Amino acid sequence: MKRNATNCDYRGVTRCYWHMAAIVLSVVFLWGGIPLNLSGTSLLQAQELKVGYFDVDASPSIGSPLAYDPCVEVSNPLSCRGVVIVGAGEPIVLVTIDWLGVANDGHEEFRRRLAAAIGSQADRISLHALHQHDAPRCDLGAMRLLEQAGSTKQHYDRMLWQRVLDGAMANVKEAIENAQPFDQVGYGEAEVQDVASNRRLLDANGKVAVTRYTATRDAAVRAMPTGTIDPKLRLISFWKGDKPLAALTYYATHPQSFYRTGKANPDFPGLARNSFAQRVGLPVVHFNGAGGNIGAGKWNDGSVENRAVLAGKVEAGMLKAWEATQRTKVSVNDVEWKSVPVRLQPGAHIQREALEAAVADATVDPVMRLNSAEHLSYLNRYERGGAIDVGRLKLADVQIVHMPGELFVEFQLAAAAMVPGGKVAMAAYGDYGTAYIGTAIGYEQGGYETSNRATCVGPGAEAVLVGAMRELLGANERIIGPLGVPPDPPAVGPTTETPK
Ligand SMILES: [Zn+2]
Repeated sequence: MKRNATNCDYRGVTRCYWHMAAIVLSVVFLWGGIPLNLSGTSLLQAQELKVGYFDVDASPSIGSPLAYDPCVEVSNPLSCRGVVIVGAGEPIVLVTIDWLGVANDGHEEFRRRLAAAIGSQADRISLHALHQHDAPRCDLGAMRLLEQAGSTKQHYDRMLWQRVLDGAMANVKEAIENAQPFDQVGYGEAEVQDVASNRRLLDANGKVAVTRYTATRDAAVRAMPTGTIDPKLRLISFWKGDKPLAALTYYATHPQSFYRTGKANPDFPGLARNSFAQRVGLPVVHFNGAGGNIGAGKWNDGSVENRAVLAGKVEAGMLKAWEATQRTKVSVNDVEWKSVPVRLQPGAHIQREALEAAVADATVDPVMRLNSAEHLSYLNRYERGGAIDVGRLKLADVQIVHMPGELFVEFQLAAAAMVPGGKVAMAAYGDYGTAYIGTAIGYEQGGYETSNRATCVGPGAEAVLVGAMRELLGANERIIGPLGVPPDPPAVGPTTETPK
């Protein structure tokens, strides 16, 4: 399968702020012999690795729009939480939010303003959503487009976004002040049983015959094969001596058990996270992996009671990964943040004229009008030169890759394959502006996720993102074939069988 890399460009500029910071620190240290860095903290303090935790309530008010319906109740609070790592250059912040997604201007501005508040850089702030559906959505660009067009239907709550950002700025500052020294990083993994399943069931011609959505009432569709998934839940922890300080967990799946209730809640991964955190008595930050084409559909009939069942299975995986955790010593020199800005060209179906017409037309169905505004917001952002940061945090022998969009699981499997025997976790659902990001072949297979409505990019995205992953993971020489394409069968040699 030939991959088409020509319709996306890729700025292979690696920003390695640790090296820059080290040079700046050395210069400041030598110049005048004063052990101060630019922010005025002592050099000795700056060289000590610390981790801080923050948690901001991200629940909407009653009446405020959730992704699909107005909020009638907060049945379980939503959270914007994360960790901040201090001591390895400017602070590194890993954030997740219990929302559908944070896109384009909303994503850029959140990171820029949070970075400015704590003396860091936007590319060192990695913001991800868990993608729950009874939860708010955020795209400030799309919101403005709809407002300018006179749309009265509320899809976004700017005040909520502002309140969460204000809370994050204050709480991350406090987390830096209260950060605890750490000297080891833990890594454990375990398979989650019977939660993830592939949503895209192919026919004999390799086309999507059935989309197995996150809740599947049809028993025959549930009975179809699991398909390609990554069953592993990965858990990364910070330790000082024998004391654990915080844990990060990673698992790739859509998080829905059932939705469209108007009752805001963090769904089964959020319930698993909250229960696990209580059980181990630690702050826990859960990230969704590359779960764009993954859901619980095979294991979920959409019944109310199954939400707790799915949560229990994910929590069991967290516990097993916790029990399997092995620790490695870590010092300042073992911690590195790198990021690569990538430009993912809008798909051929993203046409300005049609999108502008749909946004301007009050008779267009509100859902399609919203969809058009979101696609136009992505196009505007791309055309003004906007890039998406793909990041990688290295903590001794553990690496975490930070990716945008509703990414197909094959990207996560490829990242793991780039570091054989390695400890590689992936957080996806970063910048949500792209919506779904399929594999190149996924765009030929059809199906919902790569349809014009569901994705803002096209088949060229694979080469750009795989290129960024290779660079970040130092895997340029490793051969990773086109994603999602089985390798060619070996050529048939001369047979030793007696002809019949
Ligand atoms: Zn989705």
